[in-house]
Amino acid sequence: MPSDYEEFLRLEKARKIILEILNEKGREGLYDLSGLSGGFLITEEDKNLLNTYIGASYFAEKVDEYGLKHLGGDEDDKCVAFNRTSSAILATILALKPKKVVHYLPELPGHPSIERSCKITNAEYFESDNIEEILNKIDKDSLVVITGSTMDLKVVELENFKKVIDEAKNKGAIVFVDDASGARVRLLFNQPPALKLGADLVVTSTDKLMEGPRGGLLAGKKELVDKIYIEGTKFGLEAQPPLLAGIYRALENFNLERVKKAFERAKNFDLSKIEQLNKELKKVDTNIEIVYEKTPTGFAIKRVYKNDEVNIKKLVEIGFNLLKNFGIITITVAGMPGASKSLRIDLTSKDAERISDDYIIKAITESIKSVFCQP
Ligand SMILES: *Cc1c(COP(=O)(O)O)cnc(C)c1O
Repeated sequence: MPSDYEEFLRLEKARKIILEILNEKGREGLYDLSGLSGGFLITEEDKNLLNTYIGASYFAEKVDEYGLKHLGGDEDDKCVAFNRTSSAILATILALKPKKVVHYLPELPGHPSIERSCKITNAEYFESDNIEEILNKIDKDSLVVITGSTMDLKVVELENFKKVIDEAKNKGAIVFVDDASGARVRLLFNQPPALKLGADLVVTSTDKLMEGPRGGLLAGKKELVDKIYIEGTKFGLEAQPPLLAGIYRALENFNLERVKKAFERAKNFDLSKIEQLNKELKKVDTNIEIVYEKTPTGFAIKRVYKNDEVNIKKLVEIGFNLLKNFGIITITVAGMPGASKSLRIDLTSKDAERISDDYIIKAITESIKSVFCQP
């Protein structure tokens, strides 16, 4: 894996290219298909309430009300916002100080913020996609984390979700669901909200599959949420009025139909040109192997080369090609250090509505070709 510093340089390079395109072609020349589309739907009247204390009073209440609705909470629950999902995760682990964290997810790896938070508090950390291993590991000292939908949008099986919750309840452990994208993606598969399934706490990202600014919305049992919020304020992890305002309006404007449209588009998306290219390139170099799959809202190229190290390098090169030559922004090049390196195309992004499936496929296949078939 690349070091954090190498990752940072990669991120800076991406930002520089984005700026160049922005200056040359304007916003129209960029297509953010990362799925983290960002949005800030506040109104004029909201702007007048952005004072630190007035805003905190007004917007925090709105976020509580709309957030609980969005996340399926009831009158015993509470909802607050943090700067990022990662901030909410850190605040949770700092506040609950678990001896160990047992993390079940449908596919490895988990989001790095969970393990990093455990390192800070010296909590033992265990993650697995093997349900039996997880059930055996849970005891009364565990904080049990379930990822509802991974960074690559692999969705948890409802049966396993329930099994982990049951086991945690039996042992008296607290259940915290990392539903960053899952809170919406799981709805597409008719899964109930995490709180309705018996989770004590759930966090979701307000700019994944919804038009909000990047932020982390935490909901669940009131006394737990209060405790986590208080701990978070000690380190400046809690959302301030401008972010709260953006989150409130994103929740208010959230429309599952838009996500469903992307879901349908993803289902019908024709990936046969990628398969064709895979066959051609294998003849050039037997180490080339394009592994790709559809996600609920797009598709992901998970691998292009057999050797792991080369693979990551090549995926990043392809990502840069997509950005430079086609204006397509992906997490592969623009994501934070530690983010998934799979080349993921997300059709819930607003910008996806401005380009055709053909443009996207052409961009991907040409970028792969130019990385592997340099003259
Ligand atoms: C995106 C994501 C996070 C982190 O969200 P940030 O806003 O980057 O902090 C955590 N967990 C999962 C599963 C995610 O997909």
